[in-house]
Amino acid sequence: MADRPDYYKVLGVGKNASEEEIKKSYRKLARKYHPDRNAGDKQAEERFKQISQAHDVLSDPDKRKAYDRGTGAFGGFGAPGGASGGFDPSAFGGVGDILSNLFGGAPGGTGAGGRTGATRGGRAREARGRDLETEVSLSFDQGVHGAQVPLAVPTSKPCPTCHGTGARPGTTPKVCPVCNGRGIEAQSQGIFSISQPCSNCGGSGTVIEDPCSTCGGSGAQRSVRRLRVNIPAGVRDGSRIRLAGKGEPAPRAAAAGPAGAGAGGPAAGGGGGPGDLYVITRVADSPVFKRAGENLEVEVPLTISEAIRGGVIEVPTLNGSKRLRVPQGTKHGTVQRLRGEGPPRLGANGRGDIHYRFVIDVPVSLSAAQSEAVDRLSDVLDGDPRAKLFEQARAAG
Ligand SMILES: [Zn+2]
Ligand SMILES: [Zn+2]
Repeated sequence: MADRPDYYKVLGVGKNASEEEIKKSYRKLARKYHPDRNAGDKQAEERFKQISQAHDVLSDPDKRKAYDRGTGAFGGFGAPGGASGGFDPSAFGGVGDILSNLFGGAPGGTGAGGRTGATRGGRAREARGRDLETEVSLSFDQGVHGAQVPLAVPTSKPCPTCHGTGARPGTTPKVCPVCNGRGIEAQSQGIFSISQPCSNCGGSGTVIEDPCSTCGGSGAQRSVRRLRVNIPAGVRDGSRIRLAGKGEPAPRAAAAGPAGAGAGGPAAGGGGGPGDLYVITRVADSPVFKRAGENLEVEVPLTISEAIRGGVIEVPTLNGSKRLRVPQGTKHGTVQRLRGEGPPRLGANGRGDIHYRFVIDVPVSLSAAQSEAVDRLSDVLDGDPRAKLFEQARAAG
């Protein structure tokens, strides 16, 4: 067995760390060492892969148990650069930027895919590649107009040395003697027999006697896939875009995960296609345009005289500005809309509207001339606007 990396140390957590602690530490470190943040820094990239791999194993209760027992084929790291040596996981204060949630469900598999390949208790016939999920941060403009953005998605690929078998070149994995390659163990309990993933091979159906020294027998290599993604116009904060076939390759092509789950054993079907990639868009707020369903809302201040007299004013739109009529005697809170000036409707035709809500700008302090004008105005505005309130209250009572 190749040198076993200390996944706990890699993630900077204790042996008894809870799932929550592991997840937290992983996210923190993944942000810190993410290739987007450390362009061209080979050491950071290596560390990033180690962190992903450690999380892969420790976040899966079965894999973690097997790892703690010291069984299962666990990948050594390509180049164990900084796996040892202390580092300070608290050095990075998470900021709400592009990477903050990038790893939502990525390698650990909180997402749809979950475990790759052979599922518990049985052989998966059409094992599909795992779905991946990632987040992307967009400016408000990019959300409205669409954008082509670069993505770095943590994933795994077949080890280049052993081509995914996990066995040293020139050797082949042996059929597991415990389960005879079936990947499951049947235990009889009275008249029932219960099937479980084989404890010897972890369900892969094969054992590797002479592990590949590059991947330590896992057959997989953590990698970062870079791709450019077209974000359609009209996405909002939290939109979920599915990129079919951009997830992980089918397990057989990718070979075993670290614990051997999902290896296309000798008898496995494994004809599934690649998984999907889900991109969750995080769209920044605009100081001017607020999303309201498929429309936008804009607050437009009016002076008191504009509200009284009405007129034509200039208002901002997504592509510049437009003229908008303010009716004479406009009340505070009145809404005027420009149809079809809003963002494109996702998955539908046309565009939403922009709703302009007039708010009357009441001056806080007045010059002497203004004060005099207001005095004159109140002299000539007659009648009590609240008289009706009391009439109605009396009538109702
Ligand atoms: Zn290998
Ligand atoms: Zn077995």
